[in-house]
Amino acid sequence: MTTAHTDLPSSPYFRLEQLGDHAWLAIATPGSGALGNAGIVDLGGATLIFDTMMTLSAARDLRAAAEALTRRAPRYVVNSHFHLDHTTGNEVFDTATIISSTQTAPLIAERSGETLREMQANGAEIIASERAGLATITDPALRLEAEQQVSDFAAMIAEVKGMRLRLPDITFEPRMAIQGAERQARLMTWGGGHTPSDVVMCLPDERVLFAGDLIFSRMHPSIFAGDAPEWLRILGEMGKLDIDIVAPGHGAVATRAAIAEQREYLETVMALAREAAEAGKTADEVAATPIPERYRDWGFASGFARTMSVLLAYHQRAGEGA
Ligand SMILES: [Zn+2]
Repeated sequence: MTTAHTDLPSSPYFRLEQLGDHAWLAIATPGSGALGNAGIVDLGGATLIFDTMMTLSAARDLRAAAEALTRRAPRYVVNSHFHLDHTTGNEVFDTATIISSTQTAPLIAERSGETLREMQANGAEIIASERAGLATITDPALRLEAEQQVSDFAAMIAEVKGMRLRLPDITFEPRMAIQGAERQARLMTWGGGHTPSDVVMCLPDERVLFAGDLIFSRMHPSIFAGDAPEWLRILGEMGKLDIDIVAPGHGAVATRAAIAEQREYLETVMALAREAAEAGKTADEVAATPIPERYRDWGFASGFARTMSVLLAYHQRAGEGA
């Protein structure tokens, strides 16, 4: 599926994987502060970056890798959605045009801005309380993941004081094509599933889809800022795209089978939450639901309990409205 290259630039913040002749995915190293994956695309005459990672250190290495691979500074940066692990690195791409969906631009300014200010004001306290929480985790796998998450946020807090959010210069909805001298990138949004607005990017020549956080590859997805039924509808649209390779927002490079796998996951957890709501279970009982067998080896395992709680509340609201 992917070509093995031994001469790809290396970084402590990510591992580069080649997706096609002109496209790469920088897969975030757990605990390094990068947190989200990012794409590098050579359009011919112009270089495009898809998402910018969470810390400026990681984003600087991402820019350096793009310059080494394509022999020029990035001209375009696409933000798939507003979350900090996909947008804070924008600041490093000071000569590029930043592009997002029309709905995402104010979400970066307001919601990401608010989170950043909270981290700038109370970063040391947030990290101290998260570190204290580690002692209560007995499961070794969950403990390692929690330690990596604290390490990610500690890396962010170490740089957060002088950070300023660089906002999008251009917005679009629902589609936009970016034409290079040799090939095209197609941006599209069907609304919001993971967040109120999510963008994916298709490279038709390379048959590659950069899915942002609409695809978590073999990792429990984060749904608390999103809308699970809408996410399912959007995955249905993504399934119609003529692509072979899926570059996810988190986790390893996958094939198009990852789209159906993400649908099955969401359908499974929504059904579990609906059954729990109908059985009148409490939030604590629902949070203690065991992870279904086939998802036990997926990453971000601590996200499952939170997902169940969010979906239970959704079904309880739907039940009250009915
Ligand atoms: Zn996200």
